Order: sequence, then structure tokens, then C-alpha cells
Amino acid sequence: MSNPPAPLSTWARNVSPSPTLAVDARAKALLAAGEDVCGFAAGEPDFDTPEHIKEACIAALKAGKTKYAATPGIEPLRQAVASRYAAEYGLKATPAQVVVSPGGKFNCYMGVLATCSPGDEVIVPAPYWVSYPEMVKLAGATPKFVLADDRTGFRLTPAMVETAITPKTKLLILNSPSNPTGAVYTRAELEAIVAVALKHNLYILSDEMYEHLVYDGVKPTCVATLSKEAEARTIVVAGFSKTYAMTGWRIGTTLAPLPIAKALAELQSQMSSNVTTFAQYGALAALTEKEKTAAALKTMLTAFDRRRKMLHAELNKIPGVTCLLAEGAFYLFPNISSFGLKDLDFCNRLLDSEKVAAVPGSAFGAEGYLRLSYATSDEIIQKGVARLAKFCAALKR
Ligand SMILES: *Cc1c(COP(=O)(O)O)cnc(C)c1O
Repeated sequence: MSNPPAPLSTWARNVSPSPTLAVDARAKALLAAGEDVCGFAAGEPDFDTPEHIKEACIAALKAGKTKYAATPGIEPLRQAVASRYAAEYGLKATPAQVVVSPGGKFNCYMGVLATCSPGDEVIVPAPYWVSYPEMVKLAGATPKFVLADDRTGFRLTPAMVETAITPKTKLLILNSPSNPTGAVYTRAELEAIVAVALKHNLYILSDEMYEHLVYDGVKPTCVATLSKEAEARTIVVAGFSKTYAMTGWRIGTTLAPLPIAKALAELQSQMSSNVTTFAQYGALAALTEKEKTAAALKTMLTAFDRRRKMLHAELNKIPGVTCLLAEGAFYLFPNISSFGLKDLDFCNRLLDSEKVAAVPGSAFGAEGYLRLSYATSDEIIQKGVARLAKFCAALKR
């Protein structure tokens, strides 16, 4: 008899599957089985990629852009990314500071790998995007969660950051606008937090994936623009997935100080090489065919904003539910703690009895909330909230 196989690695055994994908998968399975599901669990726009972006990709494919390209991205795309930081934020960046990676998720992971060693600590604001803790653990580092709940608008204060810092702290992760809460920090708030990080010589990973999905006239802040000191220590991650409805394309960008950008490219050269070459030409069109892209973005933003207001108003009509009006991304994060149920139980029962899919706040390190994505149709939102109201009315408070 042969021996049983040796255990898999600590990395393989300790990684947690994405809980948001799990709820979404259960909802999709119910849908496929013919159930009338109202899905609020999706983490992607319900729009298709704008036509001119697809066309540019197809043209590149037909023109034979099918070979390996430079690891950190095709030169015109790196140039276009650098130019857009200059145009949008007045940030002087060179193409050499830009690294194009297979999805913003990978950009974030590379950022953690480039800065953190085993034993280091990383400050992760909660509610957090589900992948941050896992990325930190995969680098051998330890996530230190700092919870900012709805009492501070899901935004950390400088004092909260200060308290979490130890001599082992290496990196602070920021994500504004936030997934899962939609919260957007003001420039002044970011300045105060970043000042604490700089005082303690930390690196900053600023995940700005939702920078263009903001409402109510809010302006996003690129953390690298706060000061020269901030620029020298900040890894800015952004991308195409959420802004241009390109989640399946797998393209994200990092803007970092030159030594970090070089390290990122070297790491990536051994882990994945370049992003699909012809796909990069689609991304390039998103940045260079500015008018078409702006029109497509406006269509999406108008729909998201209408749904955001509608969902927010309807949620706050439900006795026992309170919800802040988030200024960014496409999520709301209502508080359901008054029902005295674990949020996971709440979500499972909601899906079973009313066929409404929502992600529990505990998946993001914040028990007592739901993450509802409004990247879905007005009809689904209306029908889904009515069912949620019925469900809540049947619960004892
Ligand atoms: C979606 C998302 C990303 C990454 O998206 P990609 O599809 O990998 O480009 C990164 N950060 C946050 C907060 C996100 O919600």
C-alpha cells in the first residue's frame, strides 16, 4: 500500500475561498434552476464593455498582436496611463512607473509582495475587500484589522490608524471609494491618515479601483498626489474592470515610485508575464478614444446614481434597517444588526425564503451589515427591496 499523499502547503491549506463569489455562485445556481432570484451580490457592472474598446482589441488581434509583449505592459498603454494621471490629477509620472498586470487584484497582490516580508504587519481597514487579508497572508505577513463602522461613515480616523501601528507594521492599505461600503474619504481625511503612515515610515497601497465611480459631485483623491512624501511611498492601483465594464478582460494598472515599479515588473516576469497582448490594445482605446469612453461612462454613472438613490431610499423605509448614502462604487452597506441575527444567517434565510441574494458584512470583517450591489436593473432593485422589506417585517426585533 502506498503512503497517503503529503499535505499540501500552508498557503494552499490556509487560503479562504472568496465568500462573495460563494454567495454569488449559490444565487446563480438558483437562477439556473429557474428560480426567480433578485441578485444584489454581484461585484461587477451589469453593462457590456463599450463597443470601441472591443473593436480596438479585435483589430489588434487581427493585426497579429498575438505574441509576448514587455512584462509591465505595451509601451503606448503605459504612456497613456501616465498621461491620464497627469491630466486627471496633475501628477507627473513616467511610463516606467506604470505596471500593467492581469487584473487589479493581481496589481494589489504584487504590491503586497513587493513591500511585505514574513513577520511584517499590514493595516487593513475593515470593512475590507475580501482579498486583502488573503494576499497579506500569502506574503507571509499578518493583517491587522481596524474596524470603522457606520458611526464614522466606514472611514478610519488617524487615531485609529495610530493605535494599530506596531514596530512590525510595514504597509497601510487604503481603498477609497470602498468596496464593500462605497465610502469615499475626503482629501483632508486622507491627508491626516497618510501623515500618520508617513510618520511611521510605512508604505501605502492605495486601491483606487472605483475612482471614477463617484456621485454627488464628489472628487476622488489619488493618494500619490497628497505630497511628495506620499508619492514616494504610495503604490496606486487602478484599472479598467469596474470603470469600463471590463471585468473579464483582466487588466489592472499600478503607478508606483520607480524602484517599486521595477520590483513589481520583476516579480510579475516570473509569475505571469505580460497581460494578454491584444487585450491591452482594448484598454489603450479606453484611454485614448476619450470622447467615446466618456460617453459610455456617463451612461453607466447615470444609471448607477439613479439606482443608488432608489435603493438607499427604499432601504431606509424598512423598520430596523439603517443605511448611509455612500458616495462611490456601486454598493450600499445597510446595518441590519437590530434584527439580532448573525448576518450570515440573515443572508441564508433571505436567499432561501425570498430568493434575494446579498453578501453578509462579516465576509468583509464587519458583522451586522449587508453588502448590496446596485449594479443590477432598476426592476430587480425594486422587486428585491420589496422582498427584503417583507422578510424584515416577518422577523422579530
Ligand atoms: C474589483 C476590485 C478589484 C480588482 O478588480 P480586477 O477585476 O482584478 O481588475 C480591486 N479592488 C477592489 C476593491 C475591487 O472591488
